[in-house]
Amino acid sequence: MHAQINHPMSRRAFLAAAGATTMAIFGSSMLSGCAPMPKTGSAPVKMTPGTYPVTAQGFFAPYTIEVDVTEDAISAVRIVDTHESQYIGQRTQEIIAANVVKEQTLEVDTITGATATTNSMKEAIREALTAAGATASMFSNDATTPAPANCLGAVSDFYPDVVVVGGGITGITATLTALDGGSKVLLLEQNSYFGGSTMYSGGYIAAAGGETLPQFNYETDPDEFYEWMVESDPETFRPELSYIAAYNSAPALDMLTKYGAKWVEGGPIGRDVGAHAASASAGNSVEDVDYFAAYLISNELRGMSIFEGVAQSLQNFVEAGQLAYLLDTRVDELLTNDEGAVIGVRCKDGSEHNAPATILASGGYNANKEMLSQIYTRWMHPGNTTSIGNMFDAALAVGATLHDMDFCRTDGGSLPTIRTNGARVTREIKHSMPGVVWLDNTGHRFWKEGSSAQRAYFDVPDNTIFCVADSKLLQTDNILYYGNYATYVTDENNEELERLAAQGEVVFKGDTIEEAAEKAGLDPQVVAAELAKYNNYCTTGIDEDFGKDAEGLIPLESGPFYIFETIPNVKTTNGGLVIDDGARVLNADGTPIVGLYAAGETAGNYNIVRPTASYYGGNLHRGATFGYTAALTQAEDFPKQEGRPQGRFSIRPPHEPASFMFAGFPLLEHLADKRLPGHREAYSPTYSRWRSRASCRPRATKPWPNFSRMIQA
Ligand SMILES: Cc1cc2nc3c(=O)[nH]c(=O)nc-3n(C[C@H](O)[C@H](O)[C@H](O)COP(=O)(O)OP(=O)(O)OC[C@H]3O[C@@H](n4cnc5c(N)ncnc54)[C@H](O)[C@@H]3O)c2cc1C
Repeated sequence: MHAQINHPMSRRAFLAAAGATTMAIFGSSMLSGCAPMPKTGSAPVKMTPGTYPVTAQGFFAPYTIEVDVTEDAISAVRIVDTHESQYIGQRTQEIIAANVVKEQTLEVDTITGATATTNSMKEAIREALTAAGATASMFSNDATTPAPANCLGAVSDFYPDVVVVGGGITGITATLTALDGGSKVLLLEQNSYFGGSTMYSGGYIAAAGGETLPQFNYETDPDEFYEWMVESDPETFRPELSYIAAYNSAPALDMLTKYGAKWVEGGPIGRDVGAHAASASAGNSVEDVDYFAAYLISNELRGMSIFEGVAQSLQNFVEAGQLAYLLDTRVDELLTNDEGAVIGVRCKDGSEHNAPATILASGGYNANKEMLSQIYTRWMHPGNTTSIGNMFDAALAVGATLHDMDFCRTDGGSLPTIRTNGARVTREIKHSMPGVVWLDNTGHRFWKEGSSAQRAYFDVPDNTIFCVADSKLLQTDNILYYGNYATYVTDENNEELERLAAQGEVVFKGDTIEEAAEKAGLDPQVVAAELAKYNNYCTTGIDEDFGKDAEGLIPLESGPFYIFETIPNVKTTNGGLVIDDGARVLNADGTPIVGLYAAGETAGNYNIVRPTASYYGGNLHRGATFGYTAALTQAEDFPKQEGRPQGRFSIRPPHEPASFMFAGFPLLEHLADKRLPGHREAYSPTYSRWRSRASCRPRATKPWPNFSRMIQA
């Protein structure tokens, strides 16, 4: 029994059904080179053939396209220069460009998860067409393109051993590990592509031992990694999970490597190195330091590279009939049998998929505004938009328990250029640069700048820090950059800074500090007095209020002055489902819920190991490691051929491979000449040295409310 694909009837489908006359009109349109039909009674509109360049505002930065037209058709749309994120944004631009040319209309489908880039592209093309002389309606007939096909492999009946929910680092590692062990896997992903938050990440992944790290001359030791993880916080850490985190880290990394993930050298992690940015940026000299673990960086410094790397392997498993995956498929519920064992999932579209084991790898809840608003008043959200947290609720419904749901990991320095909470990062400043002064919303200096930034942003009213710099300070370094961890663009020549200052919404500029303060809505007299006091500390070399080190005490005296309104950005949520050392989800009695596993951010990503341990690549490390572990455990718990629950897998008819995942989108080669100033620049030693050295754990100030209520529809 095949499940049905239910698409809303497109205008095209409606036309096709509407009869011969309509079909004739539609057909003649197609025959005339896809030119749109002129309105009845009016002369056909002709464009002026040529090439029309347009520069438009993208998600991260302005980009430029060129549109070639003939008298009555769009012959090409080229992306000339773009700073959109490489996996989603640039891919979206390419697809929209291709679809507009193919369909000869601007009414092509929006790409799921990339609405802003889609709309921006359509508007940019529209602008070019208007310049060419097209009328508003010329390319606006509805010719809805088909939704991206879901890839199922060449199977129509498929009995998976394990269902994996979510295709980020955790889900992909779990999938590959299960496949590697001979299991059949059904991977369900609510986005139109794999990657989750992972593909926005810097792609830093930590591990100790194994075969991949020695290729980069890192001699690491899981024993010491483990010891370090359990050194402190005896009341909150889970030693058995730390053990897994240490010892399974290398096999998990090796598994990704085996199936195609590529890495570049990262840096060492030890007691004094790699746990924080300062040491990692100090040349990463492995000879000079005592270390026990190391992090690598995914190829081309992007988390998304991991997915590009393993794509061919996944496709091979699909073709071998061992893997099926459904994109655009959101899981909403867990199915249980009479004994309370989880035997599969129910999706939003009503379809059900059974398997003995279900691994939840659905990330955290940092795209769930209502949940995050329990912790922060204001924030930016640089990760993916599908971390909605609904699987927490589904797991609770079958008896799972949660821990530390009010624990998030944030950085600061985000400019709230998009004013709604939950928007992804578009502009950031190096808020911890030496010399930058932090004020709260009363204009008072309140903190030792650069220290414990996470805590500072959590504690300060409105989670808002006003960062002050003067023109002399801005000459020493670029303070502003934009993009996300995958695509950083340094604001060369402070162009974006001046644009935002002219706009005057989040960057406030004044010849005097009073003028800048006034524009920022702060009390000019208070700010001037605070700055005078701070400048005095710079003269004496002693910060009497907050003990800032003398080398960071750089006076701010040269106008113009700049005040930046900054808020935290939530990169991960760190609470989640309680699991055991096999990644089995536990109920309130501490016993496993049969058939249910969780890993990565879904399992609570942080305090499953040493709570205060902050180290490079820690999240990808834990996602991959526990995804790997969950896959091994399910195979052990449900050995093949031994009376496992049988579930019929209801599946849609076979399709072509998914357009997003394997359609031969020109990836790295295509992007080679577009590489942007990267991560290393953004994390220059100057900046890194002054980043927060301490990791602390903000706690919710309000009681954590009814969880179910907060799941978005
Ligand atoms: C900007 C940024 C930079 C970062 N840099 C680093 C770094 O360099 N190193 C590091 O270690 N960590 C980094 N992190 C954190 C790290 O990326 C995440 O913690 C990690 O990738 C989470 O992986 P995951 O697989 O658990 O979840 P995700 O990557 O969020 O994947 C979960 C997937 O599940 C899908 N999903 C969710 N719900 C459902 C559902 N109901 N049905 C079907 N599918 C569902 C989602 O669409 C998503 O694809 C960074 C994070 C950000 C935002």
